[in-house]
Amino acid sequence: MDYAVISDVHSNLEALQAVLADLDRRGIKKERTFFCGDAVGYGPNPNECVELLRERAKVLIAGNHDWGVLGLTDINYFNPNARAAIRWTEEVLTPENRLTLESFFLVKRLKKENVFLVHGSPKEPEEWHYLLTLFDAEINFNYFEERLCFIGHSHLPFIMERVPSGELVVHKEGVELGSPHRYIVNAGSIGQPRDGDPRACYALFNEERVELVRVPYDIDGVQRKMSAAGLPLPLIERLRRGV
Ligand code: ZN
Repeated sequence: MDYAVISDVHSNLEALQAVLADLDRRGIKKERTFFCGDAVGYGPNPNECVELLRERAKVLIAGNHDWGVLGLTDINYFNPNARAAIRWTEEVLTPENRLTLESFFLVKRLKKENVFLVHGSPKEPEEWHYLLTLFDAEINFNYFEERLCFIGHSHLPFIMERVPSGELVVHKEGVELGSPHRYIVNAGSIGQPRDGDPRACYALFNEERVELVRVPYDIDGVQRKMSAAGLPLPLIERLRRGV
């Protein structure tokens, strides 16, 4: 009875399809699949990814790239390559898929599952802060009440556990859930991992356990499509290295 949290797809259709096939193999349906933001930006298939996410994820959270395309976040804040990809995405995105992006939530509380979902950080989610350090985590544990908080944004997967004494412990691959322990989990990135492992990354959880999962996909195929679309070379090259 597992749930999946997928994040930072970034218009990478091959990576998203590989992860969805992995969810199919595990029998995880739409009702138990949550998306943590950045459907678009960087990659060559924004329309296909938005449509597939709408079809396959029960909850859709907005990321800074999604809001960038919608004009809700100032794209001068992005680096030049990211900005070029956002402009390209604005041109090719259909009006219907734009409407879908507009429907994404900034945060979502799942009562039954005792889970909080946000793209960047529970504190000031619309500011797109990066939650990277134990110090960041310490502050952010005060901005949600649930047992588990899932985030994305940095494309760096981790599990930070807060034990009842207040001490924080970091896990890289998985952890058995203690009670009343609380957790901030970065589900990593489907479409542009940056932790040195180029495989797609997502998170699985149930009542007892959280786990980070890696899935290989056709990186060459995505790179060819990005070249054909004229997307910036550094964005194409980084996929192979996972940085
Ligand atoms: Zn992202």
